[in-house]
Amino acid sequence: MKKYKSRVVKVGPYLLGGDNPVRVQSMTNTDTRDVGATVKQILALEKAGCEIARVAVPDMIAAKAVGKIKKRIHIPLVVDIHFDYKLALECVAQGADKIRINPGNIGSREKVEAVVKACKAKKIPIRIGINAGSLEKDLQEKYGPTPKAAVESALRHVKILEDLKFHDILVSIKFSDIPQTIEGYRLLSKKINYPLHLGVTHAGTSYMGIIKNSIGIGILLNEGIGATIRVSLTADPVKEVRPAFEILKALKLRECGPEIISCPGCGRTEINIIGLTKKVEKALLGIKKPIKVAVMGCVVNGPGEAREADIGVAGGKKMGAIFARGKVIKSVPENKIFSELLKEIEKIS
Ligand code: SF4
Repeated sequence: MKKYKSRVVKVGPYLLGGDNPVRVQSMTNTDTRDVGATVKQILALEKAGCEIARVAVPDMIAAKAVGKIKKRIHIPLVVDIHFDYKLALECVAQGADKIRINPGNIGSREKVEAVVKACKAKKIPIRIGINAGSLEKDLQEKYGPTPKAAVESALRHVKILEDLKFHDILVSIKFSDIPQTIEGYRLLSKKINYPLHLGVTHAGTSYMGIIKNSIGIGILLNEGIGATIRVSLTADPVKEVRPAFEILKALKLRECGPEIISCPGCGRTEINIIGLTKKVEKALLGIKKPIKVAVMGCVVNGPGEAREADIGVAGGKKMGAIFARGKVIKSVPENKIFSELLKEIEKIS
């Protein structure tokens, strides 16, 4: 399958699109006017690894808070504006790194021109964000809330910017339905070559939301579609970050931290595989190096089936066999499995 290759735009220090790494984004759920609370949440997102943060800007007080927030955070800040071009202009003046606004909703050509001029001057991109639930009336009537309608809507907004010779554009088209998400982005990727921001809207709480996001975002990323992603969940936004990286890691798009290979256990297992794997997973949280660690239930199949692991353990009768790249390097008593495995992990991490 031919992979989608977009042009490149810059957001803060990051180049997005082309062959650049897919970046992880999240959005605060604090009141942006509350600078302290918003900064606190963005710092927590940063700590979790989030690379781009977005805040909603519903009014001028929120727009004027952008500069104060920017001063206290370390990742690029995207501002989300619905209609009011004055809010966009204020956010640009305050140092926003990207604006999410749909030019077709701004109003007169002069207002759009003012926003484009400001973004050009500061070299910041605009993301056009289409939500299937809020499409233009004529498109709703023509197609219903379908991928075709969302794509046509996105193209209208894109054209407005292109007519003003503005090309630092990113686009998203969001649905809560996964097949529609996939169809929509595929369709869009055939019509334009701007970097795309991927997300699934109203995906639900953590459990179902992570499944829906992983399928929708994962399938598209595997086709080369997507420059930034947001795993949107009805949860603390910090919880969106790890699943996003796990998706990227599973697809081999980013090398970000260790990967655990563990078997489900079966009648051959003679150790507490679930408990041990949980402990190992926790112990690996602070490690940045992309190592593979295996926790396998039996010596008969474990080392061979997890031979791609840099280090691993396979359970035996009251003992564990520590192995590296499929070869057993030592055997340890059951009560020392975890500590001995950690020692070996430390040597390679
Ligand atoms: Fe069962 Fe061993 Fe396979 Fe684990 S590795 S599922 S314990 S056979």
